[in-house]
Amino acid sequence: MQRFPGTGSFAVAFVVALPIAPAQPDVTSPPADPELARAIYQELVEINTTDSSGDCTRAAKAMAARLEAAGLPTADIQVLGPDPRKGNLVARLRGTGSRRPLLLLAHLDVVEARREDWSFDPFVFREEGGYFYGRGTSDDKAMAAIFVANLVRYLRDGFKPDRDLVLALTADEEGGRFNGVDWLVKNHRELVDAELGLNEGGGGQRQGGRRIANTVQASEKVFQSFRLEVRNPGGHSSLPVPDNAIYRLAEGLVRFSRFRFPVRLNEVTRLFFERSAATVPEPEASDRRAVARNPPDPAAAERLSTQAYLNARLRTTCVATMLEGGHAENALPQMARATINCRMLPDDKPADVKAAIVEALADEKIAVTALQDAKPSPPSPLSAGILAPIERVSSTMWPGVPVVPIMSSGATDSLYLRAAGIPVYGVDGIFEDVDDTRAHGRDERMLVTSFYEGQEFLYRLVKTLSSPQAAR
Ligand SMILES: [Zn+2]
Repeated sequence: MQRFPGTGSFAVAFVVALPIAPAQPDVTSPPADPELARAIYQELVEINTTDSSGDCTRAAKAMAARLEAAGLPTADIQVLGPDPRKGNLVARLRGTGSRRPLLLLAHLDVVEARREDWSFDPFVFREEGGYFYGRGTSDDKAMAAIFVANLVRYLRDGFKPDRDLVLALTADEEGGRFNGVDWLVKNHRELVDAELGLNEGGGGQRQGGRRIANTVQASEKVFQSFRLEVRNPGGHSSLPVPDNAIYRLAEGLVRFSRFRFPVRLNEVTRLFFERSAATVPEPEASDRRAVARNPPDPAAAERLSTQAYLNARLRTTCVATMLEGGHAENALPQMARATINCRMLPDDKPADVKAAIVEALADEKIAVTALQDAKPSPPSPLSAGILAPIERVSSTMWPGVPVVPIMSSGATDSLYLRAAGIPVYGVDGIFEDVDDTRAHGRDERMLVTSFYEGQEFLYRLVKTLSSPQAAR
């Protein structure tokens, strides 16, 4: 704690409120180099990597230089990409090769941040009141910096993993035309091919100064929008007829608004409800356990569905998001159109979801068309080979804090790897306050202690996942 001076009274309250002892130092390896991790983190945050004016290639090259200076052979470090500003770093710490590689993934790009929206310059790294501030401090430059710092630490320690550790720091996760993971998988599969990968998407959850859960994202819902359209001959608005495009669409939408997809759990969400029960008070705790049973308890599911966050984990959801129609104030509408955005359970098929929408609309005059080809994202299996090491490292550092698998309702770059047959787990051991989410927003920040704990957690986890069985 004394390493972080100037944190004021809040730091005192924070220390007192923490129910769990700080992480034990890892006796099996020399101590971490926190100054180095912080310097790498600062360097990354201060390189603007927004889509509009930033430069991911610069950030990728800066990290390449760090690894080269630490002794990683130049031949094992590459910066490559389809656009001069959208470079990706791929670096390989070679292991003995007894197992297929472990991929460590983080994105370099950040969401736009305007100086006038922030209390200070978003691209100047600052430490204040126990937090690191700056765009990307939580999404996703902490993880990128930690991976680089830990590779340097493995090199320094002379650690020889039993599989290659492949680091990929990539562009355009937040948007932009050159998604690095998609590009690497399509064009340089051999560089990023792995038995499994670690990425963002999960993480530690804190609430009111307490650690609630260490989450592992193993699944994501699939994005799919549909267009609803009604056509009509139209005419003069002074001579209305009963068949009206706007009325037909509106009535269909009202019918659709009463429709819900059935509750269906998968391996990930079942474990989520089962284990997260311990993190909430009664009677919700019992409801979560009841819905995790097979089959799920319908009354419990009904009560939990009133919470948007839980509802999204129980079923495929579809909701009207856009509406347009007509072409003149004084004309009968020739067209009325709506957009419905769906977040499908990973094993749902777009054709089945479309069929359900058509049935709920119950009007053959409403044409339904998919707006894009869904990108499938199969859940990553929660085998003991991944869950047990995470639980072991987590319980050593934070005894009593449950490891909770989660399914995201949104998507990360993990989808490109999962679709390519590489299981990916969103896990970082970085505890963030669930009531203080600033990623993508203003004054983005990261608890100083969380950053260093995340570094230690990932150091141990990656080492565990790449050491021979006997040494683990
Ligand atoms: Zn992110």
